[in-house]
Amino acid sequence: MIDTHAHLTALDDPDAVVERAFAAGVTRILTVATDIEDGHRVLALAEAHDGVFAILGIHPHEAGVTKDADVDALRELLAHPKAVAVGETGLDWFREYAPHDAQQRLFAQQLELADELGKPVVIHTRAADEDTLAALAGHDGTVVLHCFSSPHLLPAALERGWYVSFAGNASFPKAVDLRLAATQVPADRILAETDSPYLAPQPVRGQRNEPAYVVHTLAALAQARGDDPAELERQIDANATACFSLD
Ligand SMILES: [Zn+2]
Repeated sequence: MIDTHAHLTALDDPDAVVERAFAAGVTRILTVATDIEDGHRVLALAEAHDGVFAILGIHPHEAGVTKDADVDALRELLAHPKAVAVGETGLDWFREYAPHDAQQRLFAQQLELADELGKPVVIHTRAADEDTLAALAGHDGTVVLHCFSSPHLLPAALERGWYVSFAGNASFPKAVDLRLAATQVPADRILAETDSPYLAPQPVRGQRNEPAYVVHTLAALAQARGDDPAELERQIDANATACFSLD
């Protein structure tokens, strides 16, 4: 099993959490940085554990305090051999922790970086469907819609061959629309993630989430799609390997 999106550095015991995940059958964890300082911590974890890889970016919440020098620092961090993608980046009109123009500028800068480095980009989008689509209109590289929560984005995702990554919220009883979306994503474009430590899936909902729990999201997706869980697990592993160029 692979967890394609976790924030291990948001946990106070990341090494123990990684070991627990590996013991539970998780083989690889992609851990995501939200700013430059976090990027250094994420890379230290990736260096310490064979199965841990880094997704490095500056979160839209940080856009108001980000300088151009930070984007240059990000480019340098992304040269690390275990850095597999740029992100998470995007637009968040829901929390609005940063001004819209600053978020759009930072998003554009990171799309450019992904393009320049030939790496996939991991997208965070909330209450900003149209503007996210507009920003991605000219981006031809590999795209992952992380914590997929907006079925309105599905037609574009299908048309453009983007990867769609489902998190624990897809397992919640009321998330019928997300499970319906999961049935419409082609087998070679679906991913599963925890977004640890947030959004723990059923039946551990409400607890601190960790990568070992990706199995529950996978089970919910398999049930929705009518897939054999072991087969879907194998498929998602292959998808993540292709998407992030993992060995
Ligand atoms: Zn995240």
